[in-house]
Amino acid sequence: MKNSPTYIPVVIIGGGPVGLFLAICLLKKGIQCKILEKRHEPVPDSRSLGIHPVSLELFDKIDLTQPFLNQGLKIQKGFALSSDKVLGEINFEGCPKPHNYILACPQFTSEAILREELNRLDDSVLVTKAEFNELKQKEDQVEIYFTDEQGNNRFITADYVIGCDGKNSPVRQRSSIHYSGKRYDDTYIMGDFEDNTDFGSDAAVYLPPDGLIECFPLPNGMRRWVVKTDSYVENPDSTIIVEFIRKRINHDLTAIQNVMISSFGVQHFIAETFVKGRVILAGDAAHVVSPIGGQGMNLGWLDAWRVAEILSGDDIDLNLKEYSESQKKITRKVAKRAELNMALGRKTAIPSIRNLFIKSLLKKPLKNKIAQLFTMRGLESWWI
Ligand SMILES: Cc1cc2nc3c(=O)[nH]c(=O)nc-3n(C[C@H](O)[C@H](O)[C@H](O)COP(=O)(O)OP(=O)(O)OC[C@H]3O[C@@H](n4cnc5c(N)ncnc54)[C@H](O)[C@@H]3O)c2cc1C
Repeated sequence: MKNSPTYIPVVIIGGGPVGLFLAICLLKKGIQCKILEKRHEPVPDSRSLGIHPVSLELFDKIDLTQPFLNQGLKIQKGFALSSDKVLGEINFEGCPKPHNYILACPQFTSEAILREELNRLDDSVLVTKAEFNELKQKEDQVEIYFTDEQGNNRFITADYVIGCDGKNSPVRQRSSIHYSGKRYDDTYIMGDFEDNTDFGSDAAVYLPPDGLIECFPLPNGMRRWVVKTDSYVENPDSTIIVEFIRKRINHDLTAIQNVMISSFGVQHFIAETFVKGRVILAGDAAHVVSPIGGQGMNLGWLDAWRVAEILSGDDIDLNLKEYSESQKKITRKVAKRAELNMALGRKTAIPSIRNLFIKSLLKKPLKNKIAQLFTMRGLESWWI
């Protein structure tokens, strides 16, 4: 079977940021793989924007950092404000070097960089317009059934199939792996506007009585605004977000160029196991955490790195078991941090007390711990 033209050691389902990064890691370790991706083009929206130092340190190991630095923007500082007064500052400059910053890079840019790197290594790995349908686990191999670009039903055999196919993961569903969690009541609207603030490359988090507003610098003179809403805004448009921002913090975005508006709700789900026989899950297929705090894609990259290490080493079965357990622990921690972020941005009966609390968090010695939390440090420690 291993000499068959339909055999490849590893098949990845899903060519989002996690599947692409995983394929690059596997190729760098000398493991042949294929990605089956149902789309032809990358998703055009800019969902994720923050790349954390933990991911950049992985990129360093495979010479992938520079293309991200060329296109991203370093955020070294962030301010917490009430409606107008500064409550405190988080500074990442004291964090471990060289990546003592969060890199702002829209998700479509990250995906484009990863696609380019993958094609540079081997342009036959990513197969687009290929939709995974079904899998059958055999004792020593797994059969993967998919529909190709011409609509033909095809199959391929592999030692392992890795589901990087997002939160609704067909791989997870076909493998009967339970995905449990909850949807939160928290809802947000976000939009990318030309930057007309004085924050430059700094981030700002406003905590006015009516609900949180965050704004983050993006490359090319743009800024991402995220606004907490009382309920999910259907069909959002720029006038809605402009009005929220004017009312809550008196900042005017009228007539400012805007390239994206969307609404999102928050959920946290986790798979009961990340490994079942020859099926492995990584990224959103294994876990979804709240986007507040910007950790989901980075967490998926940590999964991908670990999976590539295991598949290129000895004791694969034992280490995959350990992968499932340890990444689940890390996911729970990441979800807790995201929950804390959300809780601090919710409406409260006495905002002045919440703001005093935030002021105290942003003073030494806690200030440095908070910077660690915001840069996804210490995920293996006992501390939240
Ligand atoms: C508003 C918002 C903001 C966010 N901000 C951040 C942030 O700042 N930082 C951060 O780290 N994370 C952030 N995230 C989370 C991040 O977007 C996700 O964690 C990330 O996209 C997950 O990547 P993935 O590759 O696992 O899944 P996906 O991006 O969902 O990719 C899955 C891929 O699988 C493909 N696929 C699905 N089914 C099939 C099939 N049957 N056959 C073949 N292919 C298939 C899909 O077409 C898709 O390309 C944010 C999310 C949201 C919603």
